[in-house]
Amino acid sequence: MTGRVYLVGAGPGDPGLLTARALELIAAADVILHDRLIPAAALDGARADAELVFVGKEGAGESVAQEETEVLMVARAQAGRTVVRLKGGDPFVFGRGGEEALALRAAGIAFEVVPGVTAGVAASAYAGIPVTHRGLSSAVALVTGHEDPDKQDSAIDWPALAAFPGTLVFYMGVRRLAQIADSLIAAGRSDSEPVAVVQDGTLPWQRTVTGTLETIAETAVREGVRAPAITVVGPVAALAPELSWLRPLPLAGRTVAVTRARAQASGLAQRLQALGARVIEAPVISIRALPGPPLDPSPYDLICLTSPNAVAALFERLAGPNHPPGDARALAGARVAAIGPGTARALAEHGILADVLPERSVAEALVEALAEVPVRRALIARAREARDVLVQALSARGAEVDVLALYETVAEPLPARTLQAALEADYITFASSSSVRFFLAAASAASGLSPTTRIVSIGPITSETLREHGLDPHVEAVRHDVEGILEALLADVASVRA
Ligand code: SAH
Repeated sequence: MTGRVYLVGAGPGDPGLLTARALELIAAADVILHDRLIPAAALDGARADAELVFVGKEGAGESVAQEETEVLMVARAQAGRTVVRLKGGDPFVFGRGGEEALALRAAGIAFEVVPGVTAGVAASAYAGIPVTHRGLSSAVALVTGHEDPDKQDSAIDWPALAAFPGTLVFYMGVRRLAQIADSLIAAGRSDSEPVAVVQDGTLPWQRTVTGTLETIAETAVREGVRAPAITVVGPVAALAPELSWLRPLPLAGRTVAVTRARAQASGLAQRLQALGARVIEAPVISIRALPGPPLDPSPYDLICLTSPNAVAALFERLAGPNHPPGDARALAGARVAAIGPGTARALAEHGILADVLPERSVAEALVEALAEVPVRRALIARAREARDVLVQALSARGAEVDVLALYETVAEPLPARTLQAALEADYITFASSSSVRFFLAAASAASGLSPTTRIVSIGPITSETLREHGLDPHVEAVRHDVEGILEALLADVASVRA
């Protein structure tokens, strides 16, 4: 049986603008062939076993040839797979979706098209520009500006465009803004015609630069406007200042590098993005569960968990004489202590409410919180590499202590581009000593970090590791979890701004 191909629009960037149909198809797909300009979270709902293939163009650099994409798409469908071809915006608006549909038809493969919210209309709307407006513009033209300056734009009929009675929305073409403006003026459009350039439309860091056909190219260069951006030409562009409605977000315009393991980074990354930050995910470590026999917790009267990872790994191993694997009731006989709120939350997801939870999420505070708790035999479930504070303190009290190393953190190679972006970010966040060590190993040395990058540490232990490597954290969280990092970062942004 031949599979079906869905040519799906993913919208311009705000994940909220993915259609319900797009989400449904992403969740069902065997194979997803996607471009670069799709919302970062668009693939979150893909099946864990789905084949995800990037077939887009990386800025002006490497690109997967169109023919290759089409061959791949056809081959996967012929192998009986359900294929989603996911494109930014709308697949039929400068998305080469039409060509792909023709290739599918030629190969006899059934397809469906799922329209998406197109950038020209959406970025304009988010900038407060209605592309049509009673009395100002009764037509709108979507025009390609060609990103490639060497390409001849014979396809564009400048006199016709200049005479077009309505709004012109140019896709691509940021680097050719001067040429576009000059061509329109030369062909008869007024040099005082309002123009707005909207960069990163619908994303939290969207920005708009306004001017006239005469001034816009210079202004855009001065303001450092970059792709992706659309350019709106026409009287409606002048409404942008009056109708702008996006709430300014506290971290708008800031880049924040997140060095956590990928599995843990997404929570922090999403929160940062929602606050307007541009997040560079630099997962220098990954978590690897250590194999081991099933764990019967019944001999213990205290079980200490020192990270959310430990909770996840513990439940993988948990098995009691009277309970099937993973059954939380196996823990019924023991007190359960969590080092901090993140760990407690992970426990709560398994139906276990921590008996002991210190105010500060460090081993010393957990030792204190356990001072009044009678302990005969304790199990400490943790990473292979960890501090021994808790083990020593409990042993010193006469308790029998077993340490169970459930997982280890291992280095994950970072693409050079990601590493460079992290080294130049406005903020870099470290949520553990191991992320400090692995990041600095990947960066070769602390000296690679830009002198303007502000370093955010989750707490005193991580700060100490940073100092050992010659880096003084600018910001240290008071609460040692994701919320704490966010609070500290927001406070720092506010104080630097003040
Ligand atoms: N099919 C897409 C367009 C692809 S062409 C759509 O319907 O939106 C790529 C161009 O789209 C970019 O060069 C830029 O001009 C525009 N674009 C895509 N996403 C954008 C965004 N978030 N903000 C502004 N312009 C965007």
